[in-house]
Amino acid sequence: MIQNPIPWPNGARCACAITFDMDADSLIHIARPKDAHDRLYPISMGRYGPTVAIPRILDTYERLGIKQSFFIPGWCIETYPDTVESILKAGHEVGHHGYLHEDPIVTKDTQREWFERTLDVHDKICGQKPRGYRAPVYNVNQTVIDLLIEHGFRYDSSLMADDIPYAMKTAQGELYEMPVHWGTDDWPPFAHYDEIGYMMPVKAPSIGLQAFWEEFDAMYAAGGFFMLVVHPFLTGRLARWAQVEKWLTNTLETKDVWFAPLEEIADHIDNLRAQGIYTPRTDHLPYYSAPVLEP
Ligand SMILES: [Zn+2]
Repeated sequence: MIQNPIPWPNGARCACAITFDMDADSLIHIARPKDAHDRLYPISMGRYGPTVAIPRILDTYERLGIKQSFFIPGWCIETYPDTVESILKAGHEVGHHGYLHEDPIVTKDTQREWFERTLDVHDKICGQKPRGYRAPVYNVNQTVIDLLIEHGFRYDSSLMADDIPYAMKTAQGELYEMPVHWGTDDWPPFAHYDEIGYMMPVKAPSIGLQAFWEEFDAMYAAGGFFMLVVHPFLTGRLARWAQVEKWLTNTLETKDVWFAPLEEIADHIDNLRAQGIYTPRTDHLPYYSAPVLEP
């Protein structure tokens, strides 16, 4: 049961978004800044995303007639502009995902500098401002929330306080949260990346993906919001994507679902509110203004 379900367009039972974070090789450059440029294996693993996986994914989406959201670090937009152009040309959304996949564990000034540098890249190369943001490794802090509101973003997609989109309000303004969680992220089942301290046994495609489909079944039954957070260099690999494609085809044929980019889902909730049909649950931020345990 979901307490406050959102009425989806045309009576669809569930909203769905397959969101890809195209991190490419930014992950190794931020993790090993001194020698990453000469670590060819992790560079090549990351490059597989923009060069091999994204064309495959775009081909599927074109065939199925769906538009989705991609989150891309600013440095990756600069490094792989042709890939970004093909994503935009196909009508998909490109969101803000940091500059070099930095965690926001930096000073307030540096945070602003990196955030706005990425906005400039979007302006220059994508020809438009992003409307959505996903924090690298979900590490969003209050400074980032304030920057998002200051720059007129419509949504964040890094936090986990609900099953379905909700609102976040600060003294300065409001934005939506398109909530993530680790059960619908492909990092745990499919990533093995010793260089950045992540060593897990890689699951078989059917087993890793099965966890996602069970999440979908529960969301579908409850009339919720099913979102995957996946990476081209992981889930865009041949065997995994073949199974995702099969699932997508079958779901579109047999279920009453609405696949949409996150910005369209935000617009939909805006419309419902404007018509007085729906009020989202609201979290008020900051959650805390000081450490809970004072010295
Ligand atoms: Zn990422």
